[in-house]
Amino acid sequence: MQSRAANGRSKFIFVTGGVMSGLGKGVTTSSTARLLQLAGYKVSCVKIDPYVNYDAGTMNPVAHGEVFVTDDGGECDMDIGNYERFIDRSMTKDHNITTGRIYMDVIEAEREGKYLGQCVQIIPHVTDAIKENLKKTAEKEKLDIVVVECGGTVGDIESLPFLEAFRQMALEVGKQNTLFIHVTLAPVLDVVGEQKTKPTQHSVQELRRIGIQPDILAVRCKTPLTADARRKISLFASVDQTAVVSCHDAPSIYKVPEVLESQGMLKVVAQGLGLKRSAPKWGDWKKIASSFSSHKGSVRIAVVGKYVTLPDSYVSVYHALSHAGASIGRKVEVDWIDSEKFENGGAKNIEILKGYDGILAPGGFGKRGSEGIINVANYARESDTPYLGICFGFQLAIVAFARSVCGISCNSTELDKNTKNPIIDFMPEQRNVHDMGGTMRLGGHDIAVAPNTLARKLYGANTIRRRHRHRYEFNQQYMDAVTKAGLVLSAHSDSGKRMEILEIPGHRFYFAVQYHAEFSSRPGKPEQAFDAFVRAAARS
Ligand code: GLN
Repeated sequence: MQSRAANGRSKFIFVTGGVMSGLGKGVTTSSTARLLQLAGYKVSCVKIDPYVNYDAGTMNPVAHGEVFVTDDGGECDMDIGNYERFIDRSMTKDHNITTGRIYMDVIEAEREGKYLGQCVQIIPHVTDAIKENLKKTAEKEKLDIVVVECGGTVGDIESLPFLEAFRQMALEVGKQNTLFIHVTLAPVLDVVGEQKTKPTQHSVQELRRIGIQPDILAVRCKTPLTADARRKISLFASVDQTAVVSCHDAPSIYKVPEVLESQGMLKVVAQGLGLKRSAPKWGDWKKIASSFSSHKGSVRIAVVGKYVTLPDSYVSVYHALSHAGASIGRKVEVDWIDSEKFENGGAKNIEILKGYDGILAPGGFGKRGSEGIINVANYARESDTPYLGICFGFQLAIVAFARSVCGISCNSTELDKNTKNPIIDFMPEQRNVHDMGGTMRLGGHDIAVAPNTLARKLYGANTIRRRHRHRYEFNQQYMDAVTKAGLVLSAHSDSGKRMEILEIPGHRFYFAVQYHAEFSSRPGKPEQAFDAFVRAAARS
């Protein structure tokens, strides 16, 4: 193998999208990376987001999907979560590049006088900054292969500088060190079921117009690509038939590496990049992937939150639940319920929750719907229904408990600035923060788990590390009041400064965490809190 170690150079695979968004480019990227990893290469992924935001942190989850948090505190696009789940490698903020970040670098360099009087332009300065960023990550992590996914669709104005940088990379690091995968769609319009290839043809033409000839076409389709469609696409796109890969619907996303490999994907990639090893060693991956589609029964979970109109806003929560379900052979059926349903006279709607085996209250920000979550946290506690609270769901479970068990009229200062009893309060270090971007308590922190608690039993360790994204925390002036009434705060971080886990002994399962447990869950290795929650809900 002409590996990075041999020539000091990593190889790059660029994944672009055609026809329309939402084709599963992220899954194609993750699956390709997973296959290469199973063949023994050191692989990671980078997501390019051509929007101007510096990062995903300030974006509305209902419009853009979840903000995925990396261990180093990056607020990233949700695709980074897919990469981590597929290749089980912790990413950093360097793995998510936006137009905003690139321009910020370039403008800062210009202000510092680094361009020595030159006129600073998109080509070469912006494209150079893009290439530098990619090479830096590859070098820093000593990667054999970096799979780079470009968000958006070919033809978008905002992705042009990135595609131009990819084109230049092929020249700079050599054709044998770069490979282009283009993800397109073969729709079926009529009852006869003919797969249409024209959208793919046009999209490849658009890519060629900017100087990129794809090496592999990954074609999304409902049923396997027909021989005729493959032949046509091959001919018009000048891509060998063996490199036209059918990405038809699979029973679960984790089956996609097998779908690709059944068509010889790794051989084609290996040929293009001059790699020696081209056979994956599957290990237990196939078994894990199959566990997502072979269930004996199901378990019904109500996720009661604020951003339910777009399930993608809780995508890691969904995956963590499905990992836990698959590991006990149960299908997790999730209903996304708006917490506003349970407030302002809607408290009677709580009856709906009787039909569920477990209730999960995920993260959230701001007042709207918060009283509904508090009502639901009370319902779960009083009805002995398994409850898992995450971040906002942790904070509001405390408010619910203090109000109805301890009789303290209290709130979080996020929801009522003038509350008499600020049981959830601004973290002291947040008081002087005015910028919204990247200023929360973010990323991985070590957490000390107390002995003789459910938390210790689940995690089986004194110290765990989990990711965070919050500004408020439990105010320990209320510690005595709540613990005397039976609430156990079973883990803390920052030498006891902040509380991280709550539990209620004697309840079937009442557990809530200040951190985002969902980001640490992997197929075959469900995060422990999710695992225990789903088991409790399934009575397994
Ligand atoms: N809004 C709360 C805070 O800022 C909870 C945040 C969250 O759920 N991610 O602390």
